[in-house]
Amino acid sequence: AYNLMKISFYSRSVNEGFARGALAAFLAQADPTVPELADMKTAVSEAVTNCIVHAYPRQVGLVYLTAALYEDGLVKITVTDRGVGIPDVEKAMQPMFTTGNPEERAGLGFAVMQSFMDKVRVTSTPGKGTRVVMSK
Ligand code: ATP
Ligand code: MG
Repeated sequence: AYNLMKISFYSRSVNEGFARGALAAFLAQADPTVPELADMKTAVSEAVTNCIVHAYPRQVGLVYLTAALYEDGLVKITVTDRGVGIPDVEKAMQPMFTTGNPEERAGLGFAVMQSFMDKVRVTSTPGKGTRVVMSK
C-alpha cells in the first residue's frame, strides 16, 4: 500500500462515530468525492456496529480498523474483532438474517456493506473472531 492506518478501540457504541470520523480524516488525503466518502463511512459504521452488537455480547472487547490506500486510488478497509465469531458466514450475509433482537435489527448490515462497497469478504472462526475486508 502507499499509505496505511491502523487503530483499535473498545466495542463501545460511542466508537461507531469515532471510527467514521477517523476513517474520513485518513481518507481526506485521497480526495474522495463526497458520495464515495459517504459510502465508505456507512460501510465502516455497519461493520463496527456488528462488532459492538454481536462480537462481544457479554463484555467489551477490542475492534481493529485498518485502511490502506493504494497508488491507483483503491481503498481497502478491514474491520476485525476477537469476539464470538460467526458459525455460518454465508447464511449471516443473507439479507434480513439476524441473530439480534428483531425489534432493533433488520439483518441488513452486510447487505449495506455489499451495496456501498465494490467488494466485501468476510472470514470468521467461532470462538476466535471475525474479519471483514472491503474495498472500493
Ligand atoms: P442490522 O445490521 O440490520 O442492524 P444485523 O447486525 O443482525 O442487523 P448484519 O449486520 O447483516 O445484520 O449481520 C447478520 C448477522 O451476522 C448478525 O445478526 C450476527 O449474527 C452476525 N454477525 C455479523 N457481524 C458479526 C460479528 N462481528 N461477530 C459475530 N457475529 C456477527
Ligand atoms: Mg449489523
